[in-house]
Amino acid sequence: MKIIIIGAGISGLLSAYYLVKGGCEVEIFEKSDRPGGLIKTFSSEFGPMDYAASSLVNSEVFEDIFNDIGLELATKGSLAKIKYIYRNSIRRWPLNLFESLRFMGGVVSLILSKDKGLSKGRSINNWGEAFLGKAGYRYTLETFLQGVYAGDGRKMSASLILSNIFGKKNKQPKKRKPQVRGSVMPLGGMEQLTNKLALYLEKNSVKINYNVEVSADDIDASQITIIASSAPATGKLLKQMGVKEGAKLMALDMLDLASVHLVFKQGKTLFNGYGCLFPVSEGFNCLGVLAGQNGFPDEYSNPVERWIIGGAYNRNVLSQSDEKLINLALVDRKKLSNKEEKPIAAFILRRPQSLPHYTPELEKIIDNLCLPKNLFLAGNYLGGIGLSAIIRQSQTLAKEIKAAE
Ligand SMILES: Cc1cc2nc3c(=O)[nH]c(=O)nc-3n(C[C@H](O)[C@H](O)[C@H](O)COP(=O)(O)OP(=O)(O)OC[C@H]3O[C@@H](n4cnc5c(N)ncnc54)[C@H](O)[C@@H]3O)c2cc1C
Repeated sequence: MKIIIIGAGISGLLSAYYLVKGGCEVEIFEKSDRPGGLIKTFSSEFGPMDYAASSLVNSEVFEDIFNDIGLELATKGSLAKIKYIYRNSIRRWPLNLFESLRFMGGVVSLILSKDKGLSKGRSINNWGEAFLGKAGYRYTLETFLQGVYAGDGRKMSASLILSNIFGKKNKQPKKRKPQVRGSVMPLGGMEQLTNKLALYLEKNSVKINYNVEVSADDIDASQITIIASSAPATGKLLKQMGVKEGAKLMALDMLDLASVHLVFKQGKTLFNGYGCLFPVSEGFNCLGVLAGQNGFPDEYSNPVERWIIGGAYNRNVLSQSDEKLINLALVDRKKLSNKEEKPIAAFILRRPQSLPHYTPELEKIIDNLCLPKNLFLAGNYLGGIGLSAIIRQSQTLAKEIKAAE
């Protein structure tokens, strides 16, 4: 039986990949004229600049896919592994001795206790402070969550975010360790991954129909269909189909983000590492910065810094002019390094309504979702924002559908 996928973002493409691997016939419908969804790369004269994901945490599962689709990775620099958190200055480990002991004690108690404290409705802020201590939470978990989820810890659901980490049910047996560990980036930017995945699927008889916006009327209830779209787009379809939680999903709090790429003349880079995250309490405008040339030196002709701004604490990034956003990044740059250098070029890439806020409201919607038979969902609002979570989800979904077929 043919399986229909709505959306050719990374969630739709990976779901299609695993279904094709399992011997299924698949057809994809995509509203826009290209694959990738949020993932898109702007190829500048200084190197690739991404609108959304620019790197992913490598695993043996990703490596298998890269080999299959013929994707080459950018060479990692010696500084790629080095990441910082800012606390008065840039630091590899932001906690003092007392705070570290408190933090370690919390981690040990979490490992030993069966009850991880992940009751529904509990905020990650409340959970984190209880287990890791105030400073431990603020400078590690909250900072990480702000950097990855762009969310506000006081409004984010602890169980929605952490159940996957502590739960055993989604763990895949590890076959081997990946050859390249840590963050990796496709040669030429992340769009290479989605382009090559789409090409691979088409070579394997998957028809991808671009410029087709699917509506509920187009969905055949007797056919297995996966909606692999953002929370609002999925909510819209579910609402049209009469699914109760559809309207709520459609109205979910979504976060805007912008990437301010600053290019500097050749010379010393901002710091000796790939990235730095900024804790909320440190008062930065941006969520963090990536030093592209330090991570993947062959990809960039000059020092290119990617300053990410927006999310739950900065709701008005879309209404700000390019000049204003550049200025906000430059103010952070001065605070970080005391440098007042002028960039030789700047590129602003905006992504409105791009990330779902992982609130208890989202958790409630997911828990209460009652889908018609033959309808399945995939997307970054279901179990994690990053590509590592999305790939796990796609594998599990393909298995579930194979079993249901
Ligand atoms: C600024 C930023 C930085 C990020 N950095 C990282 C990172 O470094 N590492 C990482 O792992 N992740 C990162 N992410 C997260 C990651 O990029 C996203 O979570 C992921 O790309 C989401 O993919 P998706 O396929 O779930 O959704 P989408 O990319 O939104 O794809 C959904 C697709 O469905 C289509 N669609 C919607 N409705 C319909 C319809 N009715 N009919 C047909 N088609 C439809 C859309 O056109 C779209 O193509 C980042 C995200 C942002 C915004």
